[in-house]
Amino acid sequence: MKIRKLAPFLSVLWFAVCLLFQTAVHSALGPLEKPEDVELIRYAQAELKNIFQPDKHFVLAAMRTKSGKIYTAFNLKTTATRASVCAESIALAKTIENGELDIDTLVVVAYLNGSFEPLIVSPCGICRELLYDYSPQLKIILSHNGTTFVTSVQDLLLFPYKR
Ligand SMILES: [Zn+2]
Repeated sequence: MKIRKLAPFLSVLWFAVCLLFQTAVHSALGPLEKPEDVELIRYAQAELKNIFQPDKHFVLAAMRTKSGKIYTAFNLKTTATRASVCAESIALAKTIENGELDIDTLVVVAYLNGSFEPLIVSPCGICRELLYDYSPQLKIILSHNGTTFVTSVQDLLLFPYKR
């Protein structure tokens, strides 16, 4: 059989191998086990309750550095939607401004669809790219189907943008 006839099959096989490899390398880190992760969530929720304004500030990002400090920021929603700024990018800037380059864990909380309590949400695609660029080892606390767990920015962004 000519190799040319096998090419489509081989490319599909190679893609499957790559996907399996990515899954193995970037598998989720596991359930929420550290007390400081629970504290980070509670801290973020309390901070958002203080700053919450419907249609202006309803998302808050809390970053814990490896030194144990926590930096928070809230989103800036504007009437011109494209001018809005995510909480993650402001929190990242505040962290760097304070000379903290080793960011360990992030949690993002938001009031969604009329929720009475801030809920854990996932960073948007643009923020995933930003966070990956500045802190590729970053851990992110997520919640899905009632389970809260720790994953990583690499899990959320398997194929980051490359130039
Ligand atoms: Zn974002």
